[in-house]
Amino acid sequence: MEGAVVVFDFDDTIIDGDSDKWVVDELDLNHLFAQLLPTLPLNFLMDRMMMELHVRGKTIEEIADCLKQVPIDPSIVSAIKSAHASGCDLRILSDANMFFIETILKHHGLLNYFHEIISNPSSVDGEGKLRILPYHDFTSSSHSCDICPPNMCKGLVMERIRASVSAEGIKKKLIYVGDGTPDFCAGLKLEEGDYLIPRKNFPIWEVICTKPMLIKAKIYEWSNWEELASVLIKTTTKTSFIEDKCSTRPDNLVPLDCKIQDSSMSAAHPNALRVPHQPRNSSKFI
Ligand SMILES: [Mg+2]
Ligand SMILES: [Zn+2]
Repeated sequence: MEGAVVVFDFDDTIIDGDSDKWVVDELDLNHLFAQLLPTLPLNFLMDRMMMELHVRGKTIEEIADCLKQVPIDPSIVSAIKSAHASGCDLRILSDANMFFIETILKHHGLLNYFHEIISNPSSVDGEGKLRILPYHDFTSSSHSCDICPPNMCKGLVMERIRASVSAEGIKKKLIYVGDGTPDFCAGLKLEEGDYLIPRKNFPIWEVICTKPMLIKAKIYEWSNWEELASVLIKTTTKTSFIEDKCSTRPDNLVPLDCKIQDSSMSAAHPNALRVPHQPRNSSKFI
């Protein structure tokens, strides 16, 4: 039996905004965050921010209360529920962290709709301080991707997801929804018959417009959650999905209003380069 595995990015894809930025803004960490940003990878910086909140006497419960205020559009809530009801295997792949994601999803009654959440691990230490750790321990080895931040290569995770789905022996298409540059890396791992659903005019869109030939999957863009909900229904409900009515060109690769600057394959796939330990991936906060 054929089904679909839908993998969602989290920040600016499921929620309306960036959860790290939300906490930094709402809990008055902007000054320290900006000061340390040039010196630490984002993942380490957020761990440092949690340490600062602890020093200031903020409890885990107060951080959770802050996260519960993160806006989420009703259209994505119903889209998640209907995709789940139609038998899709829903997962999240995010460079935020487990505590932020689980707190927000639980608050909106969505946590149980997801088969798996893949993100940076979090834990509470003996002092009651929230710790945020890297998904990929880049201090011991590099993941060798020059698109993604050092702590998480989404393409590598997608390879793992595909392998685990294939191991079940059931043919399933992969659908990926995201907005950031690392989401493009995830999209590179999609194959013919899969779908990439990028957020229009966000960093992933810019990269796709520059290198459309690198994506083998069909591309359906979205600009708001109503559109995303509609695209998800189209791509997950195979009986009602009429390709001709979709907004993508017949060659499956180029969104309609993309201005292609360089469609040559040579521009292309990043070779395995050493991952620079840049302070952060600039695409995440936009
Ligand atoms: Mg995002
Ligand atoms: Zn990557």
